[in-house]
Amino acid sequence: MLTTTISGSLPKPSWLAEPEKLWPAWQLSGEQLEEGKRDAAYIWIKEQEAAGIDIVSEGEQFRVHFVHGFLEHIQGIDWQKKTKMGIRDNRYVVDVPTVTAPIKRPGSIHSAEAAFARGVTDRQLKFTLPGPMTICDTIADGHYGSRADMAMAFAEVLNEEIRELEAAGVDVIQFDEPAFNVFMNDVKNWGIEALHRAIDGVNCKIAVHICYGYGIQANIDWKTSLGNEWRQYEEIFPALNDSRIDQVSLECANSKVPLSLLGLLKDKDVLVGVIDVAKQTAEPPEEVAGHIRAAMEFVDPERLQPCTNCGLAPLPRDVASAKLRALGAGTDIVRRELGSV
Ligand code: ZN
Repeated sequence: MLTTTISGSLPKPSWLAEPEKLWPAWQLSGEQLEEGKRDAAYIWIKEQEAAGIDIVSEGEQFRVHFVHGFLEHIQGIDWQKKTKMGIRDNRYVVDVPTVTAPIKRPGSIHSAEAAFARGVTDRQLKFTLPGPMTICDTIADGHYGSRADMAMAFAEVLNEEIRELEAAGVDVIQFDEPAFNVFMNDVKNWGIEALHRAIDGVNCKIAVHICYGYGIQANIDWKTSLGNEWRQYEEIFPALNDSRIDQVSLECANSKVPLSLLGLLKDKDVLVGVIDVAKQTAEPPEEVAGHIRAAMEFVDPERLQPCTNCGLAPLPRDVASAKLRALGAGTDIVRRELGSV
C-alpha cells in the first residue's frame, strides 16, 4: 500500500544541459551526449531507489521537453513553419511548429531509452508520453482540419510506440495531459476516446497525469485567477472513472483542489501529488505525511500512490533530490502508522 512514484521529469545535471530551464540546450554533442543522457538517467534511477520510490522513471533525461521530445521524431510536421498559438487557452503565446501532412512514425522513438532503464533497475518502471490532446494544444494544425481528428492520428502513432515500450519491459505508461484541466468539454467529447485509441491492445498499467502545470510564473499567475476552489477535476473525473485508464495522477500539495474530488475516482489508482513543484525547498517529511493522511479520507491506501504534483525538471538538482527523499520519508511515516512496515 502507498506505492510511491513520481510524475515524470527530473532536472538534467548541469554537465548535460542548461540547469533550471524548461527548454535547456544540451551541453554535449554526438556520442558524448548519448552517453551523458544514459549516465544522468542512471543517476536519477538510483537516487529514486535510495529515496524509497517504488515506481521509478528515467526522469526524461533523454529529451529536451516532454512534448517535443516525442514530436521531433514524427514525420508530417514542418518545424520551419511556425504558427503563433495561444496554448492552454491563451495562457502563453508561443511560436509552434505546424502539421502540414499526414503524420507518421518512421520508427521507434523511446524504446532504446526504456530498455536502458529496464536494464538498470528491478523496480517497476514508468515511462511518460505526451497525451494526444496536449500534443494538439502544443502544435498547429495545417492539415487535419479539426483537433479531434488530429488527436486520433497522434493516438495511432502513440499506440505503435506504446506497444514497443511495453515489449521493452515498461510497467506503467503515463500520458501527460495538462490540457485536460483546460478543455473540459473536449475531454468528454474526444480526449478520453483518443487515449483509448492510444492504448488499444496494450496490457501494462496506464496512467494519465493532469495537473495545473509546472511551477513556472505563467502557471502561478493562472492559478491566482482560478478562485478559492479549483473544481476543474470535478468536470472530468466521472468520465475518467468510467474509462479504461487505470491510474489518475493529480495535483494536491498546496493547491486549492478540494480533496473530496478524489472520491470521484473510486475505481482507479489515484496518484496524489504531495510534493509542491512551485516551492524551491523540500517539504519536511511530516508535511508530506499530512497530505497523504488528508487524501486517505477519500482514497484507501491500496489505491493511493504518493507522487509529486508535476515534473521536477525546472528545479535545482539538489532541491529535486531532497524532494524525492521527502516523498519517501513522508510515506514511510504513514506506512508505520498503518502498521504496514
Ligand atoms: Zn504536470
